[in-house]
Amino acid sequence: MIEFRKVSKKYDGPNGVQALSDLTLTIRDGEFVFIIGDSGAGKSTLIKLLMGEEKPSEGSVLVDGVNVGKMTSWQLPRYRRHFGVIFQDFRLLQDYTVYDNVAFAQRVAGATRRGMAKRIPKLLAHVGLEDKQKSFPSQLSGGEQQRVALARAVVNGPQYLLADEPTGNLDPANSAEVMRLLEDFNRSGTTVIVVTHDVAMVNQLRKRVVTLKDGQVFTDISEGGYQHA
Ligand code: ADP
Repeated sequence: MIEFRKVSKKYDGPNGVQALSDLTLTIRDGEFVFIIGDSGAGKSTLIKLLMGEEKPSEGSVLVDGVNVGKMTSWQLPRYRRHFGVIFQDFRLLQDYTVYDNVAFAQRVAGATRRGMAKRIPKLLAHVGLEDKQKSFPSQLSGGEQQRVALARAVVNGPQYLLADEPTGNLDPANSAEVMRLLEDFNRSGTTVIVVTHDVAMVNQLRKRVVTLKDGQVFTDISEGGYQHA
């Protein structure tokens, strides 16, 4: 469970802005949540606090009861393994094949070669890339690259899948395919958080939608269509 409790974040410096102010938000295990809001609303800051890249000025971010803002720099890498992350710009290793992009993530987590040889082809088939294992990212379409990124994000079985504008560089058909896969991983138990501007996608999927405005939760509409308190 993810809990933002009365979180405020003011960035340091002469132009220090109040990016989040007194924000309270709970995301339960197994949920699928969209986080939307205009540019500057605080979405990236929320994600940075969740990943421990920034610390709250006030309040606390608790993940399974552990205060992320209080973690030391040697605790954070292990904590971050609970998260699979994908980005708008895919961030694949360009000199690595599709297979090796996914294998790299597994190797970092200590997987054996044999374990990987079993798991990775299965996962790549699941995201529709069984024929592309030996291709390099530059030889793939945007949709295919995002599916490699998705395979890499989930290969270690993360508890949370975080997608930051995952469809920002994709056409509608590829966007729909990526969202279908996110739903799929959510159904198998992963909590999915999607930060996006893609209103069409948000309307289509009928999931919980949290709208941020001026660093606060402006609306929070549940999957069933009712407003959270
Ligand atoms: P969003 O992701 O919704 O566009 P951000 O969290 O990036 O919003 O930004 C919220 C506010 O905080 C904005 O006013 C932005 O300019 C400011 N901000 C974000 N990052 C920094 C930073 N590193 N230093 C100073 N101000 C920042």
